[in-house]
Amino acid sequence: MKLEVLNPHGFCAGVAGALRKAHALAANELRVYCYHQIVHNEAVVRDLEQKGFVFIEDLAAVPEGEIILFSAHGVAPAIREEAARRKLRIVDATCPFVARVHQEARALAERGLPVVIIGDARHDEVKGIRGEVPSAFIWPDVPKDVQRIGVVCQTTMNATEVEKILAELRERYTVETSASVCRATQERQDAVRAFTGDALLVLGSRNSSNTRRLAEVAKCPAFRVGSLEELKELDLPDVEHLGVTSGASTPEDFLARAIRSIQDEKGAKLL
Ligand code: SF4
Repeated sequence: MKLEVLNPHGFCAGVAGALRKAHALAANELRVYCYHQIVHNEAVVRDLEQKGFVFIEDLAAVPEGEIILFSAHGVAPAIREEAARRKLRIVDATCPFVARVHQEARALAERGLPVVIIGDARHDEVKGIRGEVPSAFIWPDVPKDVQRIGVVCQTTMNATEVEKILAELRERYTVETSASVCRATQERQDAVRAFTGDALLVLGSRNSSNTRRLAEVAKCPAFRVGSLEELKELDLPDVEHLGVTSGASTPEDFLARAIRSIQDEKGAKLL
């Protein structure tokens, strides 16, 4: 079996930046509460928990005056206001590309346009964006009886899907938008689309949106794997050319261990 690691893969700049902030706090042995998972990867969260981080879903769990770290996915303005009211010390690890989508959503709404968000309503990033414009619609829900709309999108969507949805919306409305996935998402998806082997392993946690999309855009069967145990259980009969990629929140050491495991267990040769 030939084994090909696709590039780029793994940590994007936004995740790397968020983790730099987290590790700087850990190095100073500060007690840190983190609102939501800092990035959607279980190993990263476990590692920070071992360093004393407390992951919370509700700011009420944070004692007054403590440090609150906002995750790379961003938060709604109401969360910032609540943190300020409770005198929490905010460290903001929101990815700049996510912050830009917040800004765009706000700007469209300020111009009086109904705003449509292309994204997953359950995802932390989309909850944060919607917090900027509570009246925003989340596609496929769309406004009625209007001619002009503003559109933004979650940064980790399937890029082709976003283009398709924008084309559909343009048939019905005049659309003002600069909606697109972020560059890291685009580049990782492009590498997967270009892969012509028999099967693809996509390394990353189940709740990672960008990891899910990588598996979605593959032209060959794609298998998502979140741990070495899962990898060992994976049967890959008749696969002669296996690709490997990893989501933007997947640590590189997991990829290295996965490759070693495939080499040892399946006798694969790295291209
Ligand atoms: Fe930022 Fe894109 Fe990485 Fe999300 S995937 S953290 S938007 S660079």
